[in-house]
Amino acid sequence: MLTILEKFVCSESPSTEKAAADRCAALIANTWKGTGAKVELVDQKHRGAHLRVTEARKNAAKCGQLLVLGHYDTVYGTGTLRKMPFRISGGKAYGPGAFDMKAGIVQALFALHTLQLLHAPLSKQIVFLWTSDEEIGSESSRKLIEAEAKRSDAVFVLEPALGPKGLFKTARKGVGEAEIVVHGRASHAGLAPADGVNAIHEIALQIARIKEWNHPRIGISVNTGMIEGGTRTNVIPDRARAVIDLRALRIADMRMIEKRLHSLKAMVPGAKLEVHGGFNRAPLERRHSARLFQRARSLAKQMGLKIDECTAGGGSDGNLTAALGIPTLDGFGAVGDGAHSPGEYVIGKTMPERAALLAAMLVNS
Ligand SMILES: [Zn+2]
Repeated sequence: MLTILEKFVCSESPSTEKAAADRCAALIANTWKGTGAKVELVDQKHRGAHLRVTEARKNAAKCGQLLVLGHYDTVYGTGTLRKMPFRISGGKAYGPGAFDMKAGIVQALFALHTLQLLHAPLSKQIVFLWTSDEEIGSESSRKLIEAEAKRSDAVFVLEPALGPKGLFKTARKGVGEAEIVVHGRASHAGLAPADGVNAIHEIALQIARIKEWNHPRIGISVNTGMIEGGTRTNVIPDRARAVIDLRALRIADMRMIEKRLHSLKAMVPGAKLEVHGGFNRAPLERRHSARLFQRARSLAKQMGLKIDECTAGGGSDGNLTAALGIPTLDGFGAVGDGAHSPGEYVIGKTMPERAALLAAMLVNS
């Protein structure tokens, strides 16, 4: 497993570098071809190709489908390997994207291989979908993910588990981004202050109002992360802008935040507001994952493993499939830590465990 992981990690695949991503997609596709399953590369104009692998048994398609979902893109630009090479030390495998989430793809490969070796009775068709742009919002893959999810009875997301304990992510916050632009009126701050409409004063009032929407206990967070406006101190600014990160744990709260956002009214006389954006991925509510997690826990127990769950503050493509009402279990991938950081690692001995658990879920779902 580690040998294949090394190959995958050493083929760098940043979401934003198409040529590199395509090379990695081809390498992963070739590896999956060894299973005898049907392997298709779905080419993209601006992004790397998405990869779909279909394992179908006779008549299985009639009885439904299971979707195993993940991404092969990483947040690291090409050349990162030079400062962050693949290496194994103290039972941990390090390297860009090893944990998030190339090890997950390796685990799924071995789960499929295991089912084939054991001639396990599969009642459903299994589709493995490895996409190229999850780390930048899944613009090119979203339709494909949603189409496959709609055909599926359950979705297993091979995103990394949380922390070295390997917690499954049975709930995930929905994530969004909003932009507020204020249009005021420029004027000389000394000679004609009364003729101006100060766009910065307006945006400051709006930010103070929006801040009050935070509600940590129920999982709502609203963070103004960027502001800009103004040109000179002696000019009343005619424009200001703020960009806001939005998160919510419940679909109802997501809708409430979006509604509030789009009904904001200007407070400074003469100022005009423009509001763009909203949630990009809806929350993955626990009700969409609870039964799958229960099954996974009981199968894990039979294998002598103990698994646990958590709520994640960040979104994944699991949010997209759960939003369609399809049971979704996320965080089924690698166990380790340090995603998106130079120290990211996978705990080697957990890879066969998670692969075996996935195989068990694919037979029992
Ligand atoms: Zn990921």
